[in-house]
Amino acid sequence: MKESSLYLNIFLLYHFFMQSIYQRTVEILADLVSFPVLGGESNLSILQYIQEYLDSHEVAYQLVPNQDGSKASLFARIGPAVDGGIILSGHMDVVPVEGQDWKTEPFVLTQIEDKLYARGSADMKGFVASCLANVPYFKSLHLEKPIYFAFSYDEEVGCLSAPELVKALLDFYEEKPAFAWIGEPTVMQPMVGQKGICVLETTVYGSAGHSSRIRQEVSAIHEAAKLVVWIENKMHELVNSGHLDNRFTPPHSSLHVGVFRGGIAPNVISDVCTFQWDVRTIPSDKLTDILADFQSYCTQREAELKLRFAGARIVTTEHHPPVPPLDTPEDQEIVSFIRSISPIQELGTVSYAAEAGQFAEAGLQAIICGPGDIAQAHRANEFIEIKQLELGLDMLHKLGQKLAHSS
Ligand SMILES: [Zn+2]
Repeated sequence: MKESSLYLNIFLLYHFFMQSIYQRTVEILADLVSFPVLGGESNLSILQYIQEYLDSHEVAYQLVPNQDGSKASLFARIGPAVDGGIILSGHMDVVPVEGQDWKTEPFVLTQIEDKLYARGSADMKGFVASCLANVPYFKSLHLEKPIYFAFSYDEEVGCLSAPELVKALLDFYEEKPAFAWIGEPTVMQPMVGQKGICVLETTVYGSAGHSSRIRQEVSAIHEAAKLVVWIENKMHELVNSGHLDNRFTPPHSSLHVGVFRGGIAPNVISDVCTFQWDVRTIPSDKLTDILADFQSYCTQREAELKLRFAGARIVTTEHHPPVPPLDTPEDQEIVSFIRSISPIQELGTVSYAAEAGQFAEAGLQAIICGPGDIAQAHRANEFIEIKQLELGLDMLHKLGQKLAHSS
């Protein structure tokens, strides 16, 4: 009898403890979503909140500002300066709410039944709030391996700040962290793969003239159309030659033109035409190879066009540096580590861009796993289920225990 009441007490204590962390997480999440910091905008408001929170818990942190100081990433360490720690990564920015049909105030955390609604609740302030709420707990442990925070800005406009953030973190600390846990919403499933992405703009410069002269002039539209067909054919060629990775949906690299602009009238040959496209690569396809193929086709076309019009040009620019894919092998240490604390054992992949590939590129073993569902992200009435937050908190609790006890 005595033993069972002891267990009951431990159970109640644990329950009470997790309940208080949950309450703190919701309070912090409510604060975080109240800062409507969109990708591309200054993030100093939400950053200051996080700085003040870390100050109040006496956690030292470093900022990685952009050039004009209007934005900054933040990193911090809790625990000893020894190799083998884990980085918890999140982004502070969100996507816009314009034109979306919201039933609640998007920047006010609103609970309806078992869900918490707000822009960023799932993607991905729920995870950031969970990390922050655990600061007192992590500090109370005698961690044998450190836990780092790495919070970025401008993730939603092309994962722009992560490379500098990762570099600054690795340069700053003398010890070497081993793992990076990116808390993007995956309904807590550990994700070991992510497609790479590159967004491009191609402009064709031709020569204007009366439409009857189409064989003498260079129509920018006609040339741009050829390039679009080349892009589509390239995708089919990759698929047909067996460049497949069945872990992804779709299981191939996709090449797609989403914007096409040019021309002023049906009887005027267009002298400029621009199109925007994206390439989403499976890890085994090299983006550089695809772009080099495209470039060599452009060079060949340009040479032919110059015979008719010396000023003919084809120019392609990248909207932002390509986001590398993630392909964490199942036998990497991080996989068994994350499985040992995760509620879900089955591994998966995501089809959206995330910062995980950038952490992996810097030499860290990386995995994506976080509370909430990506299906609710970027749309009206984004929410996170309370159950998801609880599962995330439970995983962070186990992380603390594991690092406190591991050798
Ligand atoms: Zn996100």
